[in-house]
Amino acid sequence: MAADGLRMTMSRSQFARMPIRRWAVWRMPRRSLIGYVLAVDAVAVLGVAGSLSLIAIDRDNIVPLILLTSCAALYTELSRPIEKMRERYKGTPFIDLNSVWMFAAILLLHPALSAVVIIVSYFFRWVRIRPNALYRRTFSTAATMVAGYASSAYLALVSDQNFAHMPRNIASFGVVVSAGLVFLAVNTILITVAVYLGTPHKRVRDALGAPADYSLEAATIALGILLAWALVDWPVALLLIIGITLVLHRGVLVRQLREQARADPKTGLLNSASWSQDAAAELGRSSHSTALLMLDLDNFKLINDRHGHLVGDKHLRGVADVLKSEVRATDLVGRFGGEEFVVLLPHTLQEDALAIAERIRRRIATIPIAGVDTVTVSVGVAAHPQHGTTLEEVVSAADRALLAAKTAGRNRTLLYPTPTP
Ligand code: GH3
Ligand code: MG
Ligand code: MG
Repeated sequence: MAADGLRMTMSRSQFARMPIRRWAVWRMPRRSLIGYVLAVDAVAVLGVAGSLSLIAIDRDNIVPLILLTSCAALYTELSRPIEKMRERYKGTPFIDLNSVWMFAAILLLHPALSAVVIIVSYFFRWVRIRPNALYRRTFSTAATMVAGYASSAYLALVSDQNFAHMPRNIASFGVVVSAGLVFLAVNTILITVAVYLGTPHKRVRDALGAPADYSLEAATIALGILLAWALVDWPVALLLIIGITLVLHRGVLVRQLREQARADPKTGLLNSASWSQDAAAELGRSSHSTALLMLDLDNFKLINDRHGHLVGDKHLRGVADVLKSEVRATDLVGRFGGEEFVVLLPHTLQEDALAIAERIRRRIATIPIAGVDTVTVSVGVAAHPQHGTTLEEVVSAADRALLAAKTAGRNRTLLYPTPTP
């Protein structure tokens, strides 16, 4: 990660002068990842050579090639003000809607020429907008090229006509849409494997993007189909598609800013206000038993005093990761305050919540701090509607159970109402 951050501050000319053995690619966390990334890069290059030797380039490809590479460059230029705005909110993942041009190229062009459109899309953006590590950009480009070859090969297998000459009927529509799905699926698999290899000990599920990311990607591919169709039948419709893509881009920015406003920056969990809002809505909706866990790290101040606040912060992120991995995706995990966390478990009985809390408590106690320490946690458990009808009442009940757990000696889970001593 640190190497990556460093790379962001390096100019392009410094990149160019760097000897191969110092490339950031060699500093990736695992050998398997380096091997995998280089293998995908190699397949992408071999694909260009292979397709050139197998298939002749049609002269009809020249105009769409020029139009699509110009579109990719123009779109990058026009979306620069939006991207500049995103610069101010560092940490938002880089999105691009370039699949519009790239998938249109895959449908219309020789595979080697569609590779040109893909390379221009990625690298023009790399030059003009945000230079991240070069090997990352190269890998994304290569993964898209390989997904493009898979999609072209699929098209060639299932249809004996090329896209421009396909009859405009349901069967051709099915073929083109399924070629889009092949592109999406292969690209997703290639990227997910890299993310999974790059982040050890995560489940495959954690390496996947959010559903909204995939629906956005599917929408851009669908626009690519319309664009390819327009380029064959009515090329000026291209202007409309550039406009739609820019509006879509702005919409994605809004979604990301909204998500960012809901998150606690230190842990990535819901912040206290968003958690309360979502939890109150959940309680209002549900007629089933809903449980609430309130957790507070034990003597956490000592950890800060001993190892410093940065180590303390890293530990808070570790705790947040444990919380997320121990509950369902639909449970609401939030950071309530400094080293206090809250988890709302819809459709959960108090006995089950106690078992979940105990599992979490035992796991948190095993997270190493600076290789020498660990920290325990105390947990208070309450349930709706047994211990309160409003969120405030249930939180207050869980808080009292937590206080009782602290008073009873910490490192334990107690259910409200706690037995009086
Ligand atoms: P107890 O077992 O009674 O909860 O002891 P404690 O030391 O955890 O409790 P106390 O409430 O006295 O102190 C909470 C500590 O949590 C104090 C503060 O240093 C630490 N803390 C709160 N927020 C953060 C944060 O964002 N980062 C770090 N590193 N520490 C934090
Ligand atoms: Mg506290
Ligand atoms: Mg504490």
